[in-house]
Amino acid sequence: MSGETILYVDDVRAGYSIGRRFIDAVSGVTLKLFYGEIFGLAGESGCGKSTLLRIIYGYIEPPLRRVKGSIILRSKTEEFRLHELSMDELKGRVWWRYITWIPQGAMNVLNPTIRVRDHFIEMFRLHSNIDKREAHKITVEYLEALGLSREVVDAYPTQLSGGMRQRVVIALALLFNPILVLADEPTSALDVVTQRVLLEQLLKLQEKFNFTLVLVSHDMDVHGVLTNRIGIMYAGKIVEVGPTGKVFAEPLHPYTKALIAALPRLGDRITRKGLSGSPPDLSNPPPGCRFHPRCPYAMDVCRREEPPIVDIEKNRVVSCWLYVKR
Ligand code: SF4
Repeated sequence: MSGETILYVDDVRAGYSIGRRFIDAVSGVTLKLFYGEIFGLAGESGCGKSTLLRIIYGYIEPPLRRVKGSIILRSKTEEFRLHELSMDELKGRVWWRYITWIPQGAMNVLNPTIRVRDHFIEMFRLHSNIDKREAHKITVEYLEALGLSREVVDAYPTQLSGGMRQRVVIALALLFNPILVLADEPTSALDVVTQRVLLEQLLKLQEKFNFTLVLVSHDMDVHGVLTNRIGIMYAGKIVEVGPTGKVFAEPLHPYTKALIAALPRLGDRITRKGLSGSPPDLSNPPPGCRFHPRCPYAMDVCRREEPPIVDIEKNRVVSCWLYVKR
């Protein structure tokens, strides 16, 4: 990790317009990502992790819409104001070569009626001018790096297991050496053993190519093992960001504390209790701090006013009134 910023997300608000309702799924998110880091986005399902990833990528189709905010990607030589680009411009100039997205389900990317080989050939046709022979050689190299045999190139996606399909999608995503890879629960549909192997392979590729990886997962163990820094989301907001080791050892935000406290520990004889209550309805979120109805430390100010983002130390921020000096 170089400490150089690759992505600035500034005050982004986005959500889903359904009839007259607006589901405020990402609310005022500000975030910086650094070159070569593995950044984890954690939080309960429905907290806005996947929506934030989609907004950063720019794959925005109704009912999803971005209401405000800017997203700036910096390569070593160029700067892209992603929020100002249409999907066609992103497709032509940014996706695959600079940013890629690994979705939850491989079949969102793969066409069941065409062979694996032809997915790769089409990608090379669109994004490079190498010949078919070279394309085949590179395809096999990528598939083998992810533990797949060369015979996989001749298969149709439906002839492969879920784990194999997800590896094919990861190989496609990494084909043009992107600088930023957005992985949305990339292994959540797989069994535990396959998950582990696949995440290890992804980690090795990240080390080899040194891309920045944003990993969305609700599984705190995955974050604990894989990520350098972590952002905790609650009800559409990032409530804490910090180096993963520090956040696990000394969580600051009451929600992060509850997430960490619920993790099973070696030697536990009792089942640890999760957080009581449920996340708010994002079409009508509570005023003030969105966590206040579930927070054991809630004060009057929490019910009235949204907490500011407080810098605790370098790269460590929390959004909570408990840390505001008054
Ligand atoms: Fe709890 Fe208040 Fe902090 Fe929100 S701002 S997490 S309610 S103490």
